Amino acid sequence: MDLLKKRIQSDGQVLNDSLLKVDSFLNQQIDPQLMLKMGEEFAKRFSGESITKILTIESSGIAVSVMAGLILNVPVIFARKKKSVISNDALYCTTVYSFTKRESNNIIVSKKFLQEDDHVLILDDFLANGEAATGLASIVEQANAKVTGIGIVIEKSFQPGAQKLLQAGYRVESLARIASFSNGQVNFL
Ligand code: 5GP
Repeated sequence: MDLLKKRIQSDGQVLNDSLLKVDSFLNQQIDPQLMLKMGEEFAKRFSGESITKILTIESSGIAVSVMAGLILNVPVIFARKKKSVISNDALYCTTVYSFTKRESNNIIVSKKFLQEDDHVLILDDFLANGEAATGLASIVEQANAKVTGIGIVIEKSFQPGAQKLLQAGYRVESLARIASFSNGQVNFL
């Protein structure tokens, strides 16, 4: 998606050979117009798939997921990283190792939000080693629902996540695919 690639080129900061900072439009400050365009793009790519729900993980996947949910007219669920004290619901839970925080977290979703007949689109901001997406897929599968596909805003294709998800049989659609970082520059596939 050219608009996103241009934005990564102009506003992204390459922190080292594997980390990109995009906190001016995606990870802290959010550009709603860009989120809407990306939501439309995901909706277009998965339009033939009868999706019934979108599942993402807090917090950076939420904005784009809401936009995609708006266009596809389906509810958006986000996995929480911490259990809320106001919830005593039955939960689906799995452990995800965080690439950026270098720690394992339990991620949880209330059982009442996923049903067996759901066709779920998983969305997230980045794909690195595929831990977050695999964890979300595990939650969908614990509910005996179907993972219809996985949509990623920024795929770092030089890391193993995309390959891992494709090998596991999932459809992966990434809006920007990065081949490498070199001399502080982003090289797209
Ligand atoms: P994975 O679970 O695929 O190993 O990593 C994806 C998760 O780690 C995303 O949810 C995202 O929060 C974070 N992440 C991975 N790589 C980057 C990166 O280069 N920049 C930022 N900002 N987050 C990343």
